[in-house]
Amino acid sequence: MQIIKEKAALQQVISGFKSNETTIGFVPTMGALHQGHLSLVIQAARKCDLVLVSIFINPTQFDNPSDLQNYPRTLNSDVALLEELNLNVIVFAPNASELYGDSVKAEHFEYDGLEFEMEGKFRSGHFNGVGTVVKKLFELVLPDMAFFGEKDYQQLQIIKKLTEKHNLPVNVVGCPIDRENNGLARSSRNERLTAQERENSAIIYKILQTVKEKFGTENASNITEWVQKQFNSHSFLKLEYFEIADSNTLKTINKQVSGAQYRAFIAVYAGDVRLIDNIALNY
Ligand code: AMP
Repeated sequence: MQIIKEKAALQQVISGFKSNETTIGFVPTMGALHQGHLSLVIQAARKCDLVLVSIFINPTQFDNPSDLQNYPRTLNSDVALLEELNLNVIVFAPNASELYGDSVKAEHFEYDGLEFEMEGKFRSGHFNGVGTVVKKLFELVLPDMAFFGEKDYQQLQIIKKLTEKHNLPVNVVGCPIDRENNGLARSSRNERLTAQERENSAIIYKILQTVKEKFGTENASNITEWVQKQFNSHSFLKLEYFEIADSNTLKTINKQVSGAQYRAFIAVYAGDVRLIDNIALNY
């Protein structure tokens, strides 16, 4: 498998593909790949001739220095996992100065208010960092399609907004959340959970499934209170936020409107590991 570390080499390879009219599906990641990432790669390979996977731990999207420091770095095993898929995949794994030059800083982006909801309230500057790196990568890779997980649903909506606002000619595709057997959404951060924390964290998805059932008959504020209660009595998991929001605007709802689509979003700490998840409620 070809592993490219420099921008110039990547641009050369890409211009070759572009002249052959090879379609490029792009899967940006921060590495420590798991089945969730691979599901995106498989989806991309179904839709495009070639899949470009970037592996880059983007420093500008971390609001917490120890989270950045502790983030797993596993390039060799990532490449081995991709090789096992036996698909037409190329890896782009630059270092920070290759992508950012001397100034490893985030630009400021506006996403019509999407950035102020949920993760935006708790991870200061996070979506500026995400926008900065994704825009740089889109302009470099010039993909036909880019694949993002619904696991990070707010990020997916923000990337769609970014491409729209900056006229980036990329078709952004959302892919379903891949889960462990106990329902826990796969995440590179799950590797940092103890066996006990991993087992306890299964409750997050169980609660989301119950929320979905309740959504048919109960109002959003009662459901939110119920969720908060489940965590008040939990000794291992700490709830950061739970919200029921409109799937497009991400605004918390007071009242359901017919025809609108809703999702429940949650962020929970298991020890010092932050876990997020979400579920579609009425579609
Ligand atoms: P990350 O490496 O965490 O930045 O994730 C890279 C991409 O993989 C993002 O688009 C994520 O939303 C997606 N992803 C991460 N975990 C999952 C999962 N469990 N299911 C589906 N997509 C995922």
